[in-house]
Amino acid sequence: MHEARGVVRIRGVSRLLPPPWKTKVVEPIALRVAAERRIAIGEAGYNTFLLRSEDVFVDLLTDSGTSALSQEQRAAMELGDEAYAGSRSFFRLEQVVRETFGYRYLIPTHQGRGAEHLLALALVRPGTIVPSNLYFTTSREHVELAGGRWVDVAVPEATDPESPFLFKGNIDLERLEEILDAAAPGEVAYVRQEACLNMAGGQPFSMENLAGVRALTREHGVPFILDATRISENALFVKEREPGYEDRSLPELIRVIADHAEGAIFSSKKDHFVPIGGFVAVNDLELARRLREQVVVYEGFPHYGGMAGHDMEALAQGIRESTDERIVQAYVSQAQYLGTLLADAGVPIVVPIGAHAVFVDAKRLLPQLDQTEFPAQTLAAAFYLAGGVRSMERGIVSGQHGSDPYDDLELVRLALPRRVYTQEHLTWVADVVKHVHGRADEIPGLRITYEPEHLRFFQARFAPLEVFPDLAIENAATAPAVLEA
Ligand SMILES: *Cc1c(COP(=O)(O)O)cnc(C)c1O
Repeated sequence: MHEARGVVRIRGVSRLLPPPWKTKVVEPIALRVAAERRIAIGEAGYNTFLLRSEDVFVDLLTDSGTSALSQEQRAAMELGDEAYAGSRSFFRLEQVVRETFGYRYLIPTHQGRGAEHLLALALVRPGTIVPSNLYFTTSREHVELAGGRWVDVAVPEATDPESPFLFKGNIDLERLEEILDAAAPGEVAYVRQEACLNMAGGQPFSMENLAGVRALTREHGVPFILDATRISENALFVKEREPGYEDRSLPELIRVIADHAEGAIFSSKKDHFVPIGGFVAVNDLELARRLREQVVVYEGFPHYGGMAGHDMEALAQGIRESTDERIVQAYVSQAQYLGTLLADAGVPIVVPIGAHAVFVDAKRLLPQLDQTEFPAQTLAAAFYLAGGVRSMERGIVSGQHGSDPYDDLELVRLALPRRVYTQEHLTWVADVVKHVHGRADEIPGLRITYEPEHLRFFQARFAPLEVFPDLAIENAATAPAVLEA
C-alpha cells in the first residue's frame, strides 16, 4: 500500500513520526459506560449528528472546524479589528490570500457554504449546468436551489472503493469535452473541480488533469472554479505521487494549482485550522462586483462577510500554516496511520487512504444488509456503541439522489480533526473498528423514521430493525481500561 512519509515501519510495526507541535491547552473527554451509550444513540435516532458531543469519546464526525488553533493564531486574534467597514483584519487577510493563492479579489463569508451560495447566485441561472468531479452536499444543493443542474464528470475510479488509482479527484476529460461541445452558449455556468475530493475518500487530482480541465474550459470560454477547501492536502499528494513534482515546495504547488482556475471557494474550517470561516476569491473584477452585491444581502459587509475581525486574523495566520509542509504532512500521516492499522487487520477500507479521513466500506463489512437497511448509518451507530467513537455516514442517506453513480457507495467516514488527537486515540479507534468488524454478522440494519426534505443526513432519525447486540469493547478481553465520565 502507498504510505505517506510520516508513517514509518519499525521492525514491521507502523509508527507515526512525532508531529511538529506539542500540547499546551487540553480539553477533557470521557468514555460513557456502555449502558449510557445505548441510551444516547437511541435518543439521537441512531444518527451520529444528533449525539451530544459530551457523550462522545473520540470525535471523528468531521474535520470541519474541529482543528486545534496554534498559539500564533490565538495571539493574532487579539489583534482583530472589529470595525464594521474598512477593518484592518480584512486587509491583512486579503494580503495573505493574494500572496498564497494569487487571487485578486477576496469576498469573506461565514463558512464554505456561504461562499457557494454567493457563487451560485452570481453564476448559476435556471437551466444551466455545473460539471464537477463528484459532488459535495452543500455545493450541489446551492447550484440546484439556483435552478442549475449538477453533472458528474468524475473519472470512474472515483466511485470504486477498491481501485488503487492515485488520482481519484481527476475529471474525465473526454466526458467534459463532450458536454462542453454539446452545450448551448451560456449553458455551462462553470466547471468545478474539488481538491482532495471528499466523496472519493479524500483523493487528489493530478496537475496533468488540472491542466487538461483548464485547457478545455479556456477553449470553450467557460469559467473554471476550484473548490479549494483541501488544496494543501492535494498539493502534498501531488508532491508525493506525481512524477516531476517531488522537489517543488508546498507553497509553490498550492500557488500553481490555484493559478489554473479563475477563482475558488474555500471552507476554511478544514485546511486553515479555524472553527469558522470561508471565502470566495476571484480574479475577475466584474464577478467580484456581483459577489459583493450578494454578500451584503446574505453574509455582511464585504470587509467581514460572516466573520468577526478576530476570526479573520486567525484565518490569515491559519492560511500561512496550511502551506507549511511539516504541519500538513503530520496530520495527513495520521489518516495514513489509522488506515494502515485497519487495512492490516483486514477491515475493508477505501484505497488509497485519503488525506483527512479513513473511509470504511460498510457494504463489505456488513454484507448481510441490503442498501435499503442503511449499512453505513448502521455501522456508524455500531462504532459509537462499541467505544464512543463518532463517525459519519457517507452513503445512501447523504447521497439521496436515486440515479447517481456514487449512490452505490456505502461508506463510513472517520475524519481526523487536525492537530487534535494522539496516536493513542487512533489506536483506540482502530481497536473499536476491528472489534465491530469481528462481530459484524450480529448487527441488524435500520429503518428511517423521520426524513427532512433538504440534506436529510444531518437530521434524519432511524430505528433498528432488531435489537442491537451489546457491542461494547470494554467487555472484550483485549480492551484498554474504561475511563469514567
Ligand atoms: C466543508 C466543505 C464545504 C462547505 O463548507 P462549510 O464550511 O461546511 O459550509 C464545501 N466544499 C467542501 C469540499 C467541503 O469540504
